[in-house]
Amino acid sequence: MDLFLMFYLHRNIINSKVDEQFETLLANGANHRDVLMEYYSNTTIKHIVLMERDANREVIITDQQGEILGISEINAELIDQVKPYLVGLQTDKDKVLVSDWHDSPYIVSAHPYDINTGQSGYVIMLSSTISIHEMVADLSLHFAIAGVTSFIVLFIVYAVLSKVITRPLIRMKEATEKLSEGDFQVRLSVSSKDELGELAGSIQKLANDLERLKSERNEFLASIAHELSTPLTYLIGYSKVMSRGNLTEQERQQYLEIIVEESNRMKELMKNLLDLAKMDENSFTVKKAFFAARPFFEGIHKLIEPSFAMKNMKLTLLCEGEYQLFADALRLEQIVINLLDNALNYSDEQSEVILQVSQNEEKTIISVMDSGIGIPANEIAFIFEKLYRVEKSRSRAFGGSGIGLSVVKELVEAHGGTIEVKSKRGKGSTFTITI
Ligand code: ADP
Repeated sequence: MDLFLMFYLHRNIINSKVDEQFETLLANGANHRDVLMEYYSNTTIKHIVLMERDANREVIITDQQGEILGISEINAELIDQVKPYLVGLQTDKDKVLVSDWHDSPYIVSAHPYDINTGQSGYVIMLSSTISIHEMVADLSLHFAIAGVTSFIVLFIVYAVLSKVITRPLIRMKEATEKLSEGDFQVRLSVSSKDELGELAGSIQKLANDLERLKSERNEFLASIAHELSTPLTYLIGYSKVMSRGNLTEQERQQYLEIIVEESNRMKELMKNLLDLAKMDENSFTVKKAFFAARPFFEGIHKLIEPSFAMKNMKLTLLCEGEYQLFADALRLEQIVINLLDNALNYSDEQSEVILQVSQNEEKTIISVMDSGIGIPANEIAFIFEKLYRVEKSRSRAFGGSGIGLSVVKELVEAHGGTIEVKSKRGKGSTFTITI
């Protein structure tokens, strides 16, 4: 395209320059002819010839028989070349006789004159084509230089663009292809701060997130398997022991209790998993209704207190005033029990946990305060993520699966509420829900 444009421009400029040469030649010839017609004499003829002596133009003045009356310094060879054009020349208008500037050494024009005294003939003008050839050569050189320069510039621009735009795009395409094949080990360098850099950053973030989700999922499956295998081992073991039959009533009762307890643990885990799956599918709904706050929390306190007592811990309920709550009672119970369970799990014996409920304008504030092991500051941001467990070994030791808080958060948000946590390592944690 560029080349075609240059070629077109080159042709046009040369044509207009050549046209200019022809116009000058014709104008000069017409000028000489006018002078000759006005002052026809031998002296005028000599003057005209003299005027063209130094220019790269020549002039020949003929009479009606084609005889040369005056001629500038033209070599004989050229006269021989021009003569055939003069023989039998008949034109009453200015005329270009030789226009082929490519091959002929001169371009030639004829200008007829006719004077009252009966004198007539032609002023023949010749202009050397050397200057045209020089001009064309000059122009071609300039165009060649411009062409080569623009080619180099284009090449540099192409190289730069390909480095700056194309290559990062290709790398991003390869990265996304890798992602779609399930390979999340993608490393994209985010060097620029423009849109491309942002895009690379987003892809990298996506890859990191996917990688994290993948490893979390594996951990999750491992922890679910672990969670299920422990109660199952108890169930199978104690069922076998009981099937032997030679047990005292007290032993039988004790084993049955263990079986019931472990079955309940499994049921609880399944319930949480099911909730999690429902939340992921967005098929989860809360059915809100009004109910009295105090009896509700007293009920929970009664239900949970024995577990605290077993660990020599104290659970205190602070719920002043009589007011109504607007929530899904079953879900809210699940939320509070989950938080209390955690407070129980992550606190030492003899410590106290406070469940405080208060009303603030339209909202109810529920907080669970413990003085347990606390959460490291750098992990607080993640504890509501699914399957996240602080210091994995620690949670495993405490029997956690990392699902509880993510379920709590989803449930609170399904109620249109918020959950916050303040925690200090070794000092304790406070979870506050506003609903
Ligand atoms: P888990 O079933 O492991 O308890 P959760 O989602 O309930 O899972 O909690 C996520 C992590 O947050 C836990 O692994 C635990 O380390 C930490 N955590 C939750 N509640 C408390 C708390 N009251 N005190 C200290 N750490 C807590």
